[in-house]
Amino acid sequence: MNDTSPAQPVLVVNAGSSSLKYQLVDAATGSPLAKGSVERIGERRSTTTHESSGETHTGQQTVASHREALAAVAESFRRFGPSFDEVGLLAVGHRVVHGGDRFSDPVVVTDDVLAAIEELEPLAPLHNPANLEGIRVSRERFPDVPQVAVFDTAFHHAMPAHSYTYAVPKAWREEHLVRRYGFHGTSFAYVSRRAAAVLGHRIEDANLVVLHLGNGASAAAIAGGRSVDTSMGLTPLEGLVMGTRSGDIDPGLFSFMVRTGMSADAVDAALNRESGLKGLSGTNDFREVDELVATNDPDGKLAFDVTAYRLRKYVGAYAVALGRLDALVFTAGIGEHAPRLRAAVCHGLGILGIELDDEANLAPGGGERRISTKASSVAVLVVPTNEELEIARQAAAVVTA
Ligand code: ADP
Repeated sequence: MNDTSPAQPVLVVNAGSSSLKYQLVDAATGSPLAKGSVERIGERRSTTTHESSGETHTGQQTVASHREALAAVAESFRRFGPSFDEVGLLAVGHRVVHGGDRFSDPVVVTDDVLAAIEELEPLAPLHNPANLEGIRVSRERFPDVPQVAVFDTAFHHAMPAHSYTYAVPKAWREEHLVRRYGFHGTSFAYVSRRAAAVLGHRIEDANLVVLHLGNGASAAAIAGGRSVDTSMGLTPLEGLVMGTRSGDIDPGLFSFMVRTGMSADAVDAALNRESGLKGLSGTNDFREVDELVATNDPDGKLAFDVTAYRLRKYVGAYAVALGRLDALVFTAGIGEHAPRLRAAVCHGLGILGIELDDEANLAPGGGERRISTKASSVAVLVVPTNEELEIARQAAAVVTA
């Protein structure tokens, strides 16, 4: 894009169950114009944060619902800028976690689309209702601006049946749409394109394993810009060790714990909220795990080792799935900022011809970078993700098509 491209301001909205995060992005240039959040919706004191023109404004007020949260966001834009009227909103782009088997691309929201997202609620009971509420209130507040739903699952729609099919009864698969869907799709789309650019490859020619390691974490095998396999499944619980989620377990563990007297809901909650790094070390924050390792804390060390080993297993499996691997790519909070974990993953992958440049791995500073040696037959990259920009670009592409 150059300076003469017309601006394409898109308000990106990520409505969670108790928070609403937003960013105003110019999809043409990639520049963030403002961002902020309303946290603790429905509690007695909610916190609002709005950053624009280099200033951060925080406040506390009662915000009972997503409708009131969006009113608070509009008020922040009115008081602190930029003004929606002046920038001329092109679209509002909504993150929607689960698109089921229905949505393989972003769509302009209509009544039919809303109904279809509602039908998918059983697949994502924690996320989709909040995402849907965000869309509904945004439609009311910005009736003249197209609302675009961008799905976390869409990128993985290209997965072949042998990757997404669970070996379970046909009735489950057909009546309840049980299959692997995968998540973090906007991150994988953005990061794989940037990784190909860093490699100097066309995306069509790049075979990549991308590790998105945030609070939620997943791996994807990506060939020619298309998802070949991914570690999250029907829900975001499957796969890697995460902040509070267990990732892969024997499904028999579930009924085993139910037979000890726990309710199914309690087991589900424990696997999603009390497991992972938190279950192993007491904290879900990887920075604290890193500190525990530095002080030789045995629980911290075990959490680190289980996490790194699981990652190595997935990279090995996905290298086989791809047949040829051009790059291993680290992204999101932990992937971008935890060199010790990157080293623990890469040092175990010599069998794939991966050779880490330890100095480059430890060098301070962010940005897109290569951290493998010249001799490494697979490049190792760090590529910061930008899910908001990807949602803004996809929303802009849909409404300008
Ligand atoms: P999400 O968007 O899924 O909430 P992020 O991508 O922001 O998560 O990643 C959050 C994780 O990144 C946390 O576990 C946090 O501890 C970790 N993290 C952030 N900065 C660092 C750092 N400097 N060193 C190690 N881990 C970090």
